[in-house]
Amino acid sequence: GKITIAIDGYSSTGKSTIAKQLATALGYVYVDTGAMYRAVTHYAIDQGFTDHNVDAPALIAHLPKINLEFVPNPTTGRSDMYLNGKNVEKEIRTMKVSRQVSKVAAITEVREKLVQMQQQMGKDKGVVMDGRDIGTVVFPDAELKLFMTASAETRAARRYKELLGRGEQVTYEEVLKNVRERDRIDSTREVSPLRKAVDAIELDNSDMGLQEQYNRVHGYALR
Ligand code: C5P
Repeated sequence: GKITIAIDGYSSTGKSTIAKQLATALGYVYVDTGAMYRAVTHYAIDQGFTDHNVDAPALIAHLPKINLEFVPNPTTGRSDMYLNGKNVEKEIRTMKVSRQVSKVAAITEVREKLVQMQQQMGKDKGVVMDGRDIGTVVFPDAELKLFMTASAETRAARRYKELLGRGEQVTYEEVLKNVRERDRIDSTREVSPLRKAVDAIELDNSDMGLQEQYNRVHGYALR
């Protein structure tokens, strides 16, 4: 039968790569919950609610006006994030959003809204969801939970390559700083801090190739 697969871990650990491959192989739905926090952040930036701090009351008041949707993209074979009817897939992956997203994700009301949506999306089994709180909060009963880690340097190098590929003007040091800063905020926030669920399998892929990693995970899913 179909199961629910929860993949959590630090920023840029390769969660989404593994999650997408797994979903494709098993014929499951893939849900990138980070994209949802990123879309809300893009909205907040657009409205002028972010600066050094995020204007939480203003954003909370706007939450009912924020409509999020994953729309399949026939060209990529994956889903794009739509915010109020507009494809924001490109915008949400920028450093501009990365710099603010952990602050937005620390707001209780934002999490309540997104967790509820995620639970709806995953209510029929056969879903692979990646994020920070999937195995602990969104689907505590998931049949397979993975927790991915890698050194900050390994993760920053990956993210840096990705951003360069998309033409962003950014330095490796800046990306490393952002990866560390998001880890810090994500794991110390009061609401649903980033934690390994007690029953999650930990995967440190600092020195593991993607194929090797994937083979292992695929094996767990078929057990
Ligand atoms: O996975 P990604 O790096 O795109 O996530 C961006 C940010 O969204 C994380 O650094 C974290 O602050 C937040 N997030 C979260 N809970 C999730 C997914 C993402 O708090 N389930």
